[in-house]
Amino acid sequence: MTNTTHQFDTIILGGGIAGLWLLSLLRKHGFEAILLEKEGLGSGQTFASQGMIHGGIKYSLAGAMTGASESIADMPLRWRSCLAGTDSVNLKGVTVLSDAYYMFSDARLSSKLTAFFGSKTLEGRVASVPAANYPKVFQSPSFRGLLYKLNDLVLDTRSLITHLHHQLKDYIFEGNVSFEHTSGRVTHLQLDDGLTVSADTYVLAAGKGNGELIEDLGLEVPMQLRPLHQVVVKGKTLPDLFAHAVTLRSADKPRITFTTHTTADTKAWYLGGQLAESGVARNEAEQIEFAKTELAAIMPWMDYSGCEFSTFRIDRAEAGGETLLRPDTPYVRRHGNVVVCWPTKLTLAPMMGDMFMKLMAEPKAGLAAPPNLPRASIGRSSWE
Ligand SMILES: Cc1cc2nc3c(=O)[nH]c(=O)nc-3n(C[C@H](O)[C@H](O)[C@H](O)COP(=O)(O)OP(=O)(O)OC[C@H]3O[C@@H](n4cnc5c(N)ncnc54)[C@H](O)[C@@H]3O)c2cc1C
Repeated sequence: MTNTTHQFDTIILGGGIAGLWLLSLLRKHGFEAILLEKEGLGSGQTFASQGMIHGGIKYSLAGAMTGASESIADMPLRWRSCLAGTDSVNLKGVTVLSDAYYMFSDARLSSKLTAFFGSKTLEGRVASVPAANYPKVFQSPSFRGLLYKLNDLVLDTRSLITHLHHQLKDYIFEGNVSFEHTSGRVTHLQLDDGLTVSADTYVLAAGKGNGELIEDLGLEVPMQLRPLHQVVVKGKTLPDLFAHAVTLRSADKPRITFTTHTTADTKAWYLGGQLAESGVARNEAEQIEFAKTELAAIMPWMDYSGCEFSTFRIDRAEAGGETLLRPDTPYVRRHGNVVVCWPTKLTLAPMMGDMFMKLMAEPKAGLAAPPNLPRASIGRSSWE
């Protein structure tokens, strides 16, 4: 037990993409910032995510731009700059699973949608793919739909978190805290082992965990949880597939969103989209049956014998509204000396970072050395 209080500019709670992104920015701008993670870095939504860095085309499937598709449009370019080491967060060396993302239909799409995909508005963001250039998985005479290439990319989220951890490990600690606060301002944080840390600004970047922290502090910030029931298909011979399957039947959302992950001994297709949203009402066996039926309808030429199907459930945590609709932008708001953050999407992390830095004043000089706490380690992903 010690009475020492360690003083910082900023203390971030939560080590998913939000917390690590902000820590990287703060350290780069000279702030004495540390991050405290309760379980394992990345182990929340970030490792559960499909890793798609997208420009929002999937929000335009009704054939028009929406608030969501416009605010997100620049994000692939921002991430590409980060990957090249030329943006504020240096991600040079992070594994890109796919440098392109596709969108395919099971049949002809409406003329309104095809005209929209070919329109000036989407120039440079969507391109129709001629049959001669189809990726292997679509080179079947049974594929009769349309194929588009988007300027999106897919990241290996484990590599992303490992990379940020490697850059910032001296400032990342394991710890569970309780707040001491008076009249809406946090005075310090008490760690389980008795250590006390304090800061000018406390950042809640704990994903779903923000709910409990907000409640402890008595802040008026609504959080919403939107559940998903994801499906994993494992099979050694599965081809790479990074694509949205769209259909006239449910044209406003991708019917299935596919990403492919290679492990030491197998390949895994990770399936989300409408399948995962509507699957919340199904139990595991029903969800697997439904996924098999959908896959057979969408890609009848594929053979899944020998593949292993499983499912898992996870919530998306975001700033809340009454409608349970996905917000269009990140939530970054100051409440006294606390800033509450939800990126809303992995893709939106650069926008969240910009919004956050606008709220920060200058760093102070000559603050305390890092506390004597255990270092946080990388977490486990719930589906791998
Ligand atoms: C199935 C799924 C697929 C998705 N796919 C995509 C996609 O392809 N593209 C995209 O752009 N977005 C996607 N998203 C959304 C994206 O994953 C999230 O918006 C993003 O990962 C949220 O990051 P975060 O850091 O806010 O939260 P999290 O990743 O959940 O991290 C929160 C961290 O805080 C820690 N924590 C919790 N409580 C405390 C506490 N009291 N003290 C300290 N630490 C605490 C947790 O252990 C965790 O490590 C997907 C989400 C889901 C669920």
